[in-house]
Amino acid sequence: MSNPNSFDNQPGKRERWDGRYIGLANHIAQWSKDPRAKVGAVLVNQPHARIVATGFNGFPANVEDSVERLENKARKLQMILHAEQNALLNAGHAARGCDAYVVGKPVCNVCATLLIQSGVRRVVAAPPRANTDSYWDKVGLLAIDMLREAGVEFTAVTGEQLDALGLNRDEARRAEDPLDPYREHQHEFDFGS
Ligand SMILES: [Zn+2]
Repeated sequence: MSNPNSFDNQPGKRERWDGRYIGLANHIAQWSKDPRAKVGAVLVNQPHARIVATGFNGFPANVEDSVERLENKARKLQMILHAEQNALLNAGHAARGCDAYVVGKPVCNVCATLLIQSGVRRVVAAPPRANTDSYWDKVGLLAIDMLREAGVEFTAVTGEQLDALGLNRDEARRAEDPLDPYREHQHEFDFGS
C-alpha cells in the first residue's frame, strides 16, 4: 500500500514541503553565534513526516564561543562544527533515510562524507558554481559529485523558493565577511535556474 505521506510522484507537494523545511533551516540558522556565517540544517524523515533533528554551526557544547574566538577566522574554522554535522550528531542512527535541508552555505566535502555515511538519502541545499578557482566551489562540487555517486539525491535550492519565504537571495548566501572563503563566489551562485 502506498504511503500517504510520500512525496513520490507528487512534485508539487514535495516542492511545497521543501519550502517549509528550507524556511525552518533558515530560522535555525539565526541561532548561530557566528557573526559571519549562519547556517542551519534540518533532517527530516519524510516517509514519516517527522523532523528528526536540527543543527546550526557553532563550537562544541561547553567550549566557549567568545567573540575573540569567533572573530579569529583561522581559529574558528579549526573549532567549529558545521550545521550538518551538528544535525547528524543530534539525530544519531535516526539520520538514516532522512532528507537534509541546509541553508546559509553550500554543503562542503566533509559534510558530504558524513551525510552519505549516515545514510541520508537526499540533500537540499545551495549549489556551488562550476568552473571557478575557488576552493569552496571546488569542494562544494566535489561534495555534490560524492553525493550523487553514492546515490544520494541532490536538489538545489531555487531562487523562487527563497523568494517565497521572503528571503533575500543575497542575504541567503550570508557572505558579509571579506575574509570569508565563501564570499568571493557566493554572490554568483545561480539561484534562479
Ligand atoms: Zn560542511
